Amino acid sequence: MSNVVEIIPLGGVGEFGMNCMAVRYADEMIVVDAGMGFPEESVYGVDVSVPDFDFLDEYKDDITAIVLTHGHEDHLGALPYILKKFNVPVYASHFTAGLAESKLEEHNLLNDVLLHRVEPRDVVEIGSFRIEFIRVSHSLVDCFALAITTPIGTIIHTGDYKVDETPVIGEPIDLRTLRRYGQEGVLALTSDSTNASVPGRTPSERAVIPAFEELFTQAEGRIIVAAFASSIHRLQIVLDVAQQFDRRVCVLGRSMQKNVDIADRLGYLDIPDGLLVSLNESKTLPDNEIVYLVTGSQGEPRAVLSQLSTQSYKGLTIEDGDTVVLSARIIPGNERAISRLVGEIYKRGGNIIDEKRRLIHVSGHASQEDIRIMTEAVRPKFVIPVHGEYRMLYRHKEFVKNHLGYAEENVILIENGDVLELDGERATVTEKREVGRTFIDDSGFEEIDRETVRERKQMAFDGVVTPVVTLSEETGTLEAPPEVVARGLIGAVGNGFIKDMERVVTEAVESAPAAERRDTSLLKERVRVHLKRYIQKQTGARPIIVPVVVQV
Ligand SMILES: [Zn+2]
Repeated sequence: MSNVVEIIPLGGVGEFGMNCMAVRYADEMIVVDAGMGFPEESVYGVDVSVPDFDFLDEYKDDITAIVLTHGHEDHLGALPYILKKFNVPVYASHFTAGLAESKLEEHNLLNDVLLHRVEPRDVVEIGSFRIEFIRVSHSLVDCFALAITTPIGTIIHTGDYKVDETPVIGEPIDLRTLRRYGQEGVLALTSDSTNASVPGRTPSERAVIPAFEELFTQAEGRIIVAAFASSIHRLQIVLDVAQQFDRRVCVLGRSMQKNVDIADRLGYLDIPDGLLVSLNESKTLPDNEIVYLVTGSQGEPRAVLSQLSTQSYKGLTIEDGDTVVLSARIIPGNERAISRLVGEIYKRGGNIIDEKRRLIHVSGHASQEDIRIMTEAVRPKFVIPVHGEYRMLYRHKEFVKNHLGYAEENVILIENGDVLELDGERATVTEKREVGRTFIDDSGFEEIDRETVRERKQMAFDGVVTPVVTLSEETGTLEAPPEVVARGLIGAVGNGFIKDMERVVTEAVESAPAAERRDTSLLKERVRVHLKRYIQKQTGARPIIVPVVVQV
């Protein structure tokens, strides 16, 4: 019997996205969520990142299950990658499981994975862990907080949540069950920090309905609504308001069609017969009888809205008189792309409605007064802010200390890779480990190794230089003067710098010992090092140098 339980975040603590947390007791470990991140390295061809699951190698035999709180990419997107390393049973709600299935299918894993579907209030026993699934409200449907009971105490993990008493779809957050745990005693609350710096309550999903009704009343032309494909409550509102105003709905974009499909099939969306029309049908309708529901609210260049605004999407373009509704928040990092998109839409005569002009978007995350309700319901001994950049974790801590009366030592700020040990009395970080990220090229689900990304960065900043050396195989002497080709290197155009580099290469080869000259890999390295030193001294640049040695 162990007398501690450990919490080890692998991602999502101190950063936006990539949520993943391990909970360990004795020789058993469960993993809560496996999310994707959206790295700054996207300009170097990296689409997404996932936690470095090699981190868990040492617990290989201990991992017993993966438990998912909900179906957003930043909680679910890395599932195939962790399952490829540790194929353990997965527990998820029906809707989350639906999204997980489609993801596993893309990775050809569907038949190899055991996926358990659970209902709110279900309790499962996984070894020493007893887990109850508790319904919470969020922008997505069928989302859970988890009550993870261990021999040391109960940890409540909120997942992403807000306190919404009037969701569009399904039941409100289950505060009763959370309070029941509060009465029984909760050791720790690991709690969503995304909106911890926002005062007040987060509005209900329903709050956007009046603004949509107003827009539909005023719009005379076509209406194009861009939203997150996962915002199922929002999609239902658009469908309802369209029905009410006698407009048909055309769903465009791969992820939007997929999510509408899954949500409809599993009964989460209520779509009246005949409401949805195909793209071709939509083109035959008068402008005031159609709504397009599209992807691309973040200005993603390959998504439908960008294509509608810059060229055309399957023969459709934005035109004078269109009303474009951006019913989503701006994810940090996407500001420029969205700003450019808005400009393109204006150029084409479209009218833009965003969340600054009308209440057409509400957050899915707990604001400070939601955090108060959650924390007072659960009444944990320790509050551990998770899900968010460090600034948000810090504000969460400040709020809990200043407004909910928690002492400094009972609000624990941790970071990815920290091993937080709870013994029932104290919470101590016993180890701080490096936990990396794995870069993924989304087109083929291929891993991109760190070195490749580093090289791409180096090329982008300082260019590439290729010295070509032609040697006699017999004598090892230069058969022709070396040539240097440079791309993207500062100072390489004109002014004789190429000639100078060629001279450096000649000297490097001619001064090489005979043995080095006969071994092409040694010679390449020699040329590379000499040239690198020279370029750095002359220009300060550190280009990628790729020597070529030809023997004739
Ligand atoms: Zn979420």
